[in-house]
Amino acid sequence: MISGFEGKVSEGNMLDWLIIGGGIHGTYLSLYLTRWKGVKAGAVRVLDAHDEPLTLWNHYTANTGMAYLRSSHAHNLHFDPFSLVTFARTRDGLPLADFIEPYGRPAYALFQAHCQRLIERYQLRALRLKGRATGMKRLLDGWQVETTEGTVSARRVIVAIGLTEQAHWPEWARTLRAAGGRVDHLFDTAFQRKDVPAGESVVVGGGITAVQSALALAANAPGQVTLLMRHAPRLHPFDADLGWITHQYLDGFHQETDYGRRRAMIKGARYRGSIPTDVAGEMAAAEQDGRLRVMIDTIEGASTTAHGSRLHLGSGDSLAANQVVLATGFDAQRPGGAWLDAVIDQYGLPTAADGYPIVDRRLCWAGGLQVSGPLAELEVGPVARNFAGVKLAAERIGATL
Ligand SMILES: Cc1cc2nc3c(=O)[nH]c(=O)nc-3n(C[C@H](O)[C@H](O)[C@H](O)COP(=O)(O)OP(=O)(O)OC[C@H]3O[C@@H](n4cnc5c(N)ncnc54)[C@H](O)[C@@H]3O)c2cc1C
Repeated sequence: MISGFEGKVSEGNMLDWLIIGGGIHGTYLSLYLTRWKGVKAGAVRVLDAHDEPLTLWNHYTANTGMAYLRSSHAHNLHFDPFSLVTFARTRDGLPLADFIEPYGRPAYALFQAHCQRLIERYQLRALRLKGRATGMKRLLDGWQVETTEGTVSARRVIVAIGLTEQAHWPEWARTLRAAGGRVDHLFDTAFQRKDVPAGESVVVGGGITAVQSALALAANAPGQVTLLMRHAPRLHPFDADLGWITHQYLDGFHQETDYGRRRAMIKGARYRGSIPTDVAGEMAAAEQDGRLRVMIDTIEGASTTAHGSRLHLGSGDSLAANQVVLATGFDAQRPGGAWLDAVIDQYGLPTAADGYPIVDRRLCWAGGLQVSGPLAELEVGPVARNFAGVKLAAERIGATL
């Protein structure tokens, strides 16, 4: 038996639903199933490697120092798109009520308080099982999931694990770290922005998180932070156009039956390394008043020095750094790694050439097995990873009930 079952369900018993991954996607799905679809709380569990709901989300977003979400208030953790706006009018929400127009992007503090309110109000912690999925076996009427803490069986399993444990490390950065250079990834559970030492630091990346974290570091160490971008700022309000949430673009996406071409459509639609204009404006202001230095260049290599590290740039220049902070996003390979590879091999689960699941309209990969997040990308489209994506995924998963 694994912890969190409170003695009610043992290996001999069957859950109706097991969600693997309890971040934004898994937590949302647990709320949606129990409070919108009427599934009994005792019949749903969320298996996650961390104690608390949204652990990685909380850690990464706190590290960026973001002031506002990139997405609109409607993309919140509740299935009611107005839940966050309503919360902002309550005693707890009102002091934090703050939105950026024209899309009503909520303040980070407001968004976080709303998430915590939902977790408490709907007792979502009680649905969690702590453990990491390591394998799956097919049963006559469902799946047995092997975890680091024991096994758990369910009639239906949703794999909602995301890319967020796959921080992208460029080769030069791995080499620098191995040589003793102080280089960390913003999306590393061990990294805390507050631990960045005084002195020159360099943030590497060209997207919104790079700019936000450079601004946050520069607030504490004005004039000592360099933001090194590979390209000039790419201005887009969101990381994909709003048409990708609706039939406007999704109809054409679903008409495409070649999964290689669907992947190409996703790549073309996602504005990688982009920033909204308000964040670009803050960056320009910080650069102008000397708080932040912004450079556009590539990194060809890096070496350690007596005082820290030196980055060797494509332009021929070099840059000294006490601390390098990578804001280089996530690796694009299908999440799940070896344990999911083994399940795919054993049960012949269909995948596209890029290794991602081929699923049906209800996001079923096999009987009793569904997906959300990037694993659903070839069906949900370019926003699959985001808040908008879990809402689209939940509707489809819920349609099987
Ligand atoms: C800094 C930042 C800002 C963002 N801002 C926005 C925004 O404004 N709007 C928007 O729409 N999107 C945003 N996103 C994108 C996206 O919405 C988030 O990354 C979101 O957290 C993804 O949810 P997730 O559930 O896939 O991942 P997570 O929230 O990270 O959760 C995945 C969970 O699965 C667990 N897990 C993995 N493997 C296993 C396993 N084998 N067994 C058990 N558990 C496992 C992980 O430990 C983790 O707890 C942002 C992302 C980042 C990083």
